[in-house]
Amino acid sequence: MAKTYDPNNVFARILRGEIPCKKVMETEHALAFHDINPQAPTHILVIPKGAYVDMDDFSARATEAEIAGLFRAVGEVARGAGAAEPGYRILSNCGEDANQEVPHLHIHVFAGRRLGPMITKG
Ligand code: AMP
Repeated sequence: MAKTYDPNNVFARILRGEIPCKKVMETEHALAFHDINPQAPTHILVIPKGAYVDMDDFSARATEAEIAGLFRAVGEVARGAGAAEPGYRILSNCGEDANQEVPHLHIHVFAGRRLGPMITKG
């Protein structure tokens, strides 16, 4: 069953311009901005403009154009940050086990230092 989207989540409010963000880039389908609590020298969030709770929701319901638009934006953001070399990591938390805090799909882009192991041991 589809998850219910909360239109008052913080990223929906950023998309509506109700609260500010440090914008990196914007396209028809995506918005990228700096994470408020960066975990690496570069920590940018890339979000779809459409109302999608998480990757599960997005991959099931988004149009091809929205999916392409989001992932093109992720690549562009990373290149724009000078991270294509030496490298970067993308991450998207989906749901409770992943500790997703904001219920609007977002892709984290981390770069600017050695990023360590992929995941902590359980
Ligand atoms: P997640 O745990 O994957 O849901 O990550 C949510 C991320 O959103 C965290 O890294 C927060 O620091 C970030 N965040 C929360 N509120 C804001 C905001 N107003 N502007 C930018 N980043 C935010």
